[in-house]
Amino acid sequence: MKARFTALKGAPDVLPPETHLWSKIENAACEVFCAYGYDEIKTPILEPAELFLRSIGSSSDIVAKEMYSFTDKADRSISLRPEGTAGVVRAYVEHNLSLRPAPQKFFYRGPMFRYERPQKGRQRQFYQIGAECFGTAHPGMDAELIVMLMAFLEKAGLRGFSLELNSIGCRQCRPAFKQRLKEFFGPHLDVLCPDCQRRYEQNPLRILDCKVERCSAVRAGAPLISESLCEDCRMHFGTLLGLLDAMETPYTLNPQMVRGLDYYTRTVFEVTSGQLGAQNAVAAGGRYDLLVSEFGGPETPALGFAAGMERLSDIILSATASGQAGPEVFIASVGGEAAAAALKTASALRAGGKRVEVGWEGSLKSQLRRADKMGAGHVVIIGGDELKSGSFKWKNLKNGESGETAAGEIFKLFI
Ligand code: ATP
Ligand code: MG
Repeated sequence: MKARFTALKGAPDVLPPETHLWSKIENAACEVFCAYGYDEIKTPILEPAELFLRSIGSSSDIVAKEMYSFTDKADRSISLRPEGTAGVVRAYVEHNLSLRPAPQKFFYRGPMFRYERPQKGRQRQFYQIGAECFGTAHPGMDAELIVMLMAFLEKAGLRGFSLELNSIGCRQCRPAFKQRLKEFFGPHLDVLCPDCQRRYEQNPLRILDCKVERCSAVRAGAPLISESLCEDCRMHFGTLLGLLDAMETPYTLNPQMVRGLDYYTRTVFEVTSGQLGAQNAVAAGGRYDLLVSEFGGPETPALGFAAGMERLSDIILSATASGQAGPEVFIASVGGEAAAAALKTASALRAGGKRVEVGWEGSLKSQLRRADKMGAGHVVIIGGDELKSGSFKWKNLKNGESGETAAGEIFKLFI
């Protein structure tokens, strides 16, 4: 019996025309990020499991429930990366990139893996484009990174998105806030979900991120971090907001946003789209001023974000109703002798950057039907008569114009 395979649940194929859109989005990222001084970095998909435990944090959903981890043949604990920042920070420390002039700026793109319940906008293998900047604590860099993200999303074709911001404090002011949260949630502990009961002990900040309804109900009256920020954090956030105002970048303050990863300090942000339904976050990020030193590097303030490719392309596709990219020229090749002339003509046009399809088989009528279905721009007909006369018939399928042109001059039609 023959075997028939299907892709793993939550790890779907990406097919044309979506792949065209993915390229367009990646090109937009490369172009915009380059203007801001970011260079591409490629880190491996496999990393030691410990790397994510130590950065994202054991109380986070990712580490607690979503990691793809396994023991390899040498008994090492390995994970498929669930996100990009930890690997980039590891590389920054491992290769002493702090010795290069600051700031050091990197962007990355590639697949990430999380064992989540697959649904629209939520997969087990998904693709992120992200950026990381090392070496400055100045809020100007926060503003720059956010403005860059907005420029990228705009260039990629996204419309109608909004930015939410918060500051979650630093080593100085967060412990007191965590204490205040514990005092607040303590009397409600029995109402909270089992995850939040664990979070209460491990990291009460996490309770603010819980999506379970009864937990959201309890936290409605929870103390706000904005009331607990130290003077430095308050100044940092205030300057950032002023710069975004100066750039006329619209934002909403969300005083309960904490993000799902432990390594964030100060600025956190999320970009959401009104068009996505439940999974409406397209990009998210923040500052992580302590992570480089926690990985054994010198104290280096840093920040970054990651955008989800599937969610981005979903919205842009539905907004642009883009069809399959058809050939610009379809060459109908009729009869055995026409093949060489068809291939030659196609190659000459392709060398000029045209997207060309040759209709190798079938009657002229069926080939013309195929050209039409593919959404071709022009057809060129090469058959016995054309070979004899040395000139090819052509038709512009968009405006109906048609004519006959010498074989050697066909390329002039498409200049
Ligand atoms: P969410 O709250 O939607 O689970 P998150 O906080 O886990 O998001 P991040 O880790 O900040 O997400 O990742 C940044 C972006 O990556 C998200 O905004 C989203 O666009 C995308 N993303 C995250 N997880 C998935 C997933 N399982 N499938 C598809 N895209 C994802
Ligand atoms: Mg998540």
